[in-house]
Order: sequence, then C-alpha cells, then structure tokens
Amino acid sequence: MKSKRDQKQDEAWMKIPPKQEERLTKKVGKKEWHWCKHHMAYTIHKPADCRLGKDQANKASMQAKAAIKEEDEDSTNYIKALIASINVANDNNDE
Ligand SMILES: [Zn+2]
Repeated sequence: MKSKRDQKQDEAWMKIPPKQEERLTKKVGKKEWHWCKHHMAYTIHKPADCRLGKDQANKASMQAKAAIKEEDEDSTNYIKALIASINVANDNNDE
C-alpha cells in the first residue's frame, strides 16, 4: 500500500508544466503521462480526449452559435429599419 507521502510526491511532478523543448508525453513507471493543458497537470488521458477540453469546446461552439443568432437578428432588424425608412421616404414623395 502506498503511503500518503508517496502520493503527494506523485501529485507534485504532475503539476509541473513541461518546458517548451520538452515533449508533452513522458513515461513514469509503467504509464505514459500526457500534459493536459485543461487540467494543467500530467494525466493518463491525452488532451484531445480530455472531458474538460470537450466541455470547453462545446461551450465555445454554443457561444459561437449564439453570436451568429444574435447577428441574424441584428441584420433582420436592420433590414426592417431600412424598409421602414424607405416607406417613410415614399410617403414623403407622395406629398
Ligand atoms: Zn484533461
């Protein structure tokens, strides 16, 4: 059984980010560890498989969709305003 002290040491190296020239994957013991930017730690999953990363990607795409929807509404309102102003101009011409 592992002592609590050993476990603490494991966590310490996990949270040290790799240097720029260092590879993002390293082998410690029998496992390969991948630096996960989402967890800011070495994890046994790859960053691409990260659940946190996927959540963030989903959130980002939802925000993008919301932004597009807002833009659509804005342009609809713009066209409505444009048509309204044209109608007013036509009314003025009739006088
Ligand atoms: Zn992760």
